[in-house]
Amino acid sequence: MQSFVHINAHSVDETIRLLAKYEGKAKLNAGGTDLLGVLKDRILPDYPEAVINIKMIPGLNTIEEDGDWIRIGALSPLVDIVKSPIIEKKCPILMEAARTVASPQIRNIATIGGNLCQDTRCWYYRYPDELGGIIKCFRKGGRTCPAVAGENQYHAIMGAKKCFAVCPSDLAVALTALDATITIAGTKGTRNIPVEDFYTHLGNVLELDEMVTMIRVPKPANTKQTFLKFTIRKPIDFAVVSTACMITIVKGICTDVRIVLGAVAHTPVRALMAEEFLKGKELSEGVVTEAATLALAGAKPLSKNEYKLEIAKTLVKRAIMASTLGTE
Ligand SMILES: Cc1cc2nc3c(=O)[nH]c(=O)nc-3n(C[C@H](O)[C@H](O)[C@H](O)COP(=O)(O)OP(=O)(O)OC[C@H]3O[C@@H](n4cnc5c(N)ncnc54)[C@H](O)[C@@H]3O)c2cc1C
Ligand code: SF4
Repeated sequence: MQSFVHINAHSVDETIRLLAKYEGKAKLNAGGTDLLGVLKDRILPDYPEAVINIKMIPGLNTIEEDGDWIRIGALSPLVDIVKSPIIEKKCPILMEAARTVASPQIRNIATIGGNLCQDTRCWYYRYPDELGGIIKCFRKGGRTCPAVAGENQYHAIMGAKKCFAVCPSDLAVALTALDATITIAGTKGTRNIPVEDFYTHLGNVLELDEMVTMIRVPKPANTKQTFLKFTIRKPIDFAVVSTACMITIVKGICTDVRIVLGAVAHTPVRALMAEEFLKGKELSEGVVTEAATLALAGAKPLSKNEYKLEIAKTLVKRAIMASTLGTE
């Protein structure tokens, strides 16, 4: 690891001022479960001059109800999300998504803000410098993406432009289904953006002087929720594909639904055509199968990841069916 200045920030204001001062040459450290690996393996062409520890900022690690909203501080550790009675009652898909992340040790220190902002897991991107030199792919300012003609089994099957890495965050998938909003603080002020709009083709929308301070989830009314994740290994593994589904059924008819696919693109993907198709219908097996096909209608798999299509369709189908259990 190269040397850097380490600064303990004590407030959001101090953090964003420091970020502005370092003009992109500082990194925020929350739990450090992602950042420290990135630094130790020297996978990036530029090393930060400063690492700003934000874990000591007070008031950013609470989960509380606020009228029609649930407010989750960006420094809330994943273990608190798994154990929160508020989350369990109002948004079980968020609890389930957090429960599937990594191991208990990692969930004890990894934060929700860090989970949303974690770097891509593409194995070319993560190739450690000590194993023969970092791979300067398109995402690192290079000219090509080695995954296109290479080992692309875990890469995007939808919406990719030049970089085919997928969003690795499980919580982002559940939060997109929940229509949650991310609160971002920067030197120009505070802004709120839907999780759905947070990710870009090469990262996220954060400016150099911005940090995530809170996640706001509208309290869902009368919905059944299901989060499913397919992994190669059972414990401690990122999703090959995941899905989150929220559905409202009245007298056997689907009146509202949100279906989100994870690990298929640079961002969680709403299955809008499937959602529209399901609204107003009784959820027979034929209808659900058709919806699952529509959910993947825009997919364009690479040479080695067509298998993700069938997994995704099956997860969507199972999630919708599971969400209908126990409804009238
Ligand atoms: C073995 C292993 C398995 C894993 N499995 C999964 C999995 O199955 N599913 C999954 O979703 N994740 C998985 N992860 C990723 C894990 O969830 C993240 O490492 C963790 O959530 C990051 O949180 P952190 O607080 O440690 O972030 P850090 O490592 O401190 O930060 C990560 C990145 O986010 C930035 N950042 C942190 N907080 C903020 C903030 N408030 N505002 C702006 N930027 C911020 C940092 O600058 C850094 O770039 C796994 C990680 C490991 C090591
Ligand atoms: S998919 Fe993206 S991160 Fe991975 S090698 Fe290609 S450009 Fe780099």
